Amino acid sequence: MNESPSIEDVLGEAGFVRRRLPGWEPRPQQLELAHAVARAFGSGRHLLAEAGTGVGKSFAYLVPAVLQSLERPNEGPVVVSTRTIALQEQLEQKDLPFLHAILPLEWSSVTAVGRSHYVCLRRMHLASRERASLFDDEAREAQLDRVLAWSRRTHGGLRFELDPPVDDEVWDEVRAEQGNCLYKACPHYDECPYQRARRRLESAQIIVVNHALYCADIALRIAGARYLPEHRVVVFDEAHHLERVATEALGARLSLGSVLWQLRRLRPRRARRNLLERSGSASAHTLLEETRGAAEAFFAMLHARAENSGAGRPAQLLLEPDDVLDDPVTAPLTALAAELHAVAAGISEVDLRAELQARARGLQALAAVLMTLRGPALGESVRWIEADQRGAALRSAPLEVSATLERHVFAAPRCAVLVSATLEPGLDPKLSWLRRRLGIGEQADALRLGSPFDYRRNVRVRIPEAMPDPGREPAAFLNRCREEVRERVLRNGGRALVLCTSWGFVRSLADELRPALAAAGIALLVQGEAPMRELLRRKLAEPSSVFLGTESLWEGIDIPGEALTLVVVTRLPFAQPDHPLTRARLRAIEARGGDPFTEHSLPEAVLKFRQGFGRLVRRADDHGEVVVLDPRTRTKPYGRAFLAALPEGVLADDDEPGHA
Ligand code: SF4
Repeated sequence: MNESPSIEDVLGEAGFVRRRLPGWEPRPQQLELAHAVARAFGSGRHLLAEAGTGVGKSFAYLVPAVLQSLERPNEGPVVVSTRTIALQEQLEQKDLPFLHAILPLEWSSVTAVGRSHYVCLRRMHLASRERASLFDDEAREAQLDRVLAWSRRTHGGLRFELDPPVDDEVWDEVRAEQGNCLYKACPHYDECPYQRARRRLESAQIIVVNHALYCADIALRIAGARYLPEHRVVVFDEAHHLERVATEALGARLSLGSVLWQLRRLRPRRARRNLLERSGSASAHTLLEETRGAAEAFFAMLHARAENSGAGRPAQLLLEPDDVLDDPVTAPLTALAAELHAVAAGISEVDLRAELQARARGLQALAAVLMTLRGPALGESVRWIEADQRGAALRSAPLEVSATLERHVFAAPRCAVLVSATLEPGLDPKLSWLRRRLGIGEQADALRLGSPFDYRRNVRVRIPEAMPDPGREPAAFLNRCREEVRERVLRNGGRALVLCTSWGFVRSLADELRPALAAAGIALLVQGEAPMRELLRRKLAEPSSVFLGTESLWEGIDIPGEALTLVVVTRLPFAQPDHPLTRARLRAIEARGGDPFTEHSLPEAVLKFRQGFGRLVRRADDHGEVVVLDPRTRTKPYGRAFLAALPEGVLADDDEPGHA
């Protein structure tokens, strides 16, 4: 084929995909989305596209992305950003290889990960030379030898290729790091995996990143640097996470652990002869001890202040903008960094000098973060103290990210395509709520496509009658809830997902369910009791099991088939209003005369409710019940917003007669 294929040639009735995937059916919604994405790339107008489960979103943006990158090479690569590294891997290992195999075109794609995931060959050889002084145990020396052997055969040089994995202390000695690269002066520059990856990034047509890396690149661009190549077109998958990830990336966090970690890098506990000893500076030792003591006292003071404030558990204390914290840490930290720079300047051995300089820069960066966090607040940022049994941390986040995103992501000539199964809480065809939150103005088209699945036939929504109100009668609600969940999951033979809104509720329900389910031979999987990957593996391996949890369980998990025929929504998922950032955002809405509930709390809860509902049907033949135990869905005027957010055709019934 001489010309580029059209979208129909790939995704249509007689397209390449259908010819290669027996049983695959073209979906009109997928074609509509793919055409809308292609139009956006061509016109330069942003596109906000909500496409229900089963539309086939990834091909709908990847196919136009490949065509765009080949037809307009002068506009740079198309960057595709996913929510997590796991989704990045799915594109890299499944969708992109398939498209490479079926498209009669020459194009390249690269998955980008952060620098610290790559081995630095120069540091690795230094660690190998210094192995006798780096570690005081043979196990870590053996791990280092394994990294050395692996580095001779690895092409990617990525940490997660190491099987079995190596300890953090070992990887820390060999990883590529910011401020510790000799670039072209490095003898390993040509074969360096990190530099090779950067060169591939500069020439690839499709670059797959995750939102955290994309937002870290925004922070770099604000500081005048960049990691990703210049690009006109970006696609955000699961775009409803963009605001949250940008908020984290543009904020800051400092804990005692992060200060001690930087100090330990100078004098690791397990080292036979550490970097400070090798540097030969006596005053650096003194300054290090001074910094450690000051940091311990400072974070103990923060902990006590948060605990004494009467804030809940974990204690989270919002700091007023003009509240300036007494900071005994910055002075010794800065002095230690200066001492290391001075010592490094007198060392002729290049690698040791680079190590010391990198450590000094790390300390300077910590001091800069602390100076920002101690106050007064800069601009519209919010600061707070978090304290739990592990200690205290100081945090900050921007009150809003819309202005930053507008300037660094959505400003012309950039064209951004934002897709997700759930972008908007309500039925607004223009997706105005999302536009406001992200700072996308009128220069954007909106598209809402329903799912091709038959929800009306396959899903029943039950709202039991006469449940106590969780706001007015919390204890009675909790008791009824425990009974209802137990009865319903037993009646369903397990195969259930139970969604809660707090960890306390999860624990309480787990206590109730455990003996009853054990007696029925049904496994109970509780979020937090094992890694999520392991719990998901067990859920699929034991279809009758019951999965119970909160937070991330409301979205992003796929349990297709008979392993899931019942979803129980215990409470409407309103966010805890006492989180400092939420409080600050609600206060800001109030200050400008808005209604915090209808503008913030309700839409966020409705969006999460939609995501929880969406867990039930992941494939065309999935079916079952969603039970909503929170009576406010019926008794409060705002309950209508939740019911209206269900997929078209799904009706909520009051509970079936005869249910006890
Ligand atoms: S170029 Fe930089 S990252 Fe690569 S091996 Fe050399 S110092 Fe390490």
